[in-house]
Amino acid sequence: MTADSRTMSTRLADWARLKSPWVTVFNSGACNACDIEVIACLMPIFDVERFGILAKGSPRHADILIVTGPVTLKQSTRLRRIWEQMPEPKYVIAMGACGASGGVFHDLYHVMNGVESTIPVDVWVAGCPPRPDEIINAVVTCLNLMKEDLARGGKEWRQKKTGEAPASGPDSAGVPA
Ligand code: SF4
Repeated sequence: MTADSRTMSTRLADWARLKSPWVTVFNSGACNACDIEVIACLMPIFDVERFGILAKGSPRHADILIVTGPVTLKQSTRLRRIWEQMPEPKYVIAMGACGASGGVFHDLYHVMNGVESTIPVDVWVAGCPPRPDEIINAVVTCLNLMKEDLARGGKEWRQKKTGEAPASGPDSAGVPA
């Protein structure tokens, strides 16, 4: 589907989604430091609501899911269920070293070693924990991906890039290869 073939209501919904993404957060077994950095994004210093980024409690209303923690065995099924409840198009941000690989919890008996063990990830944010400005940058990266996906009719164009070098920057959120 090209941008021109979309109906007026679809274009309006896509425009609203890009201008004001709704974000929900799931703790998959984090030490809570990542969650505190996410909360800092909502506080007056960073105040992401001024950019239209809204925190939502229900995954059924969310466009973007931020996952903190290494994904424990217990939380894995819950994470999958929450992701399945989100409407398309949906995007996932894996927070910190834990979200990428399990971090300091890597290879523990009860750990799945990162978010991608359970659900597809769109953007990774480096750090332990990442800073609030890096989290905001990850949301912006998600919005850029969303814009590109809407224009290209889905996420398939990104899957074709498997095997190429990642397009991400050296110290912040990036687009998966
Ligand atoms: S990445 Fe670091 S700060 Fe975040 S949950 Fe893991 S150990 Fe905690």
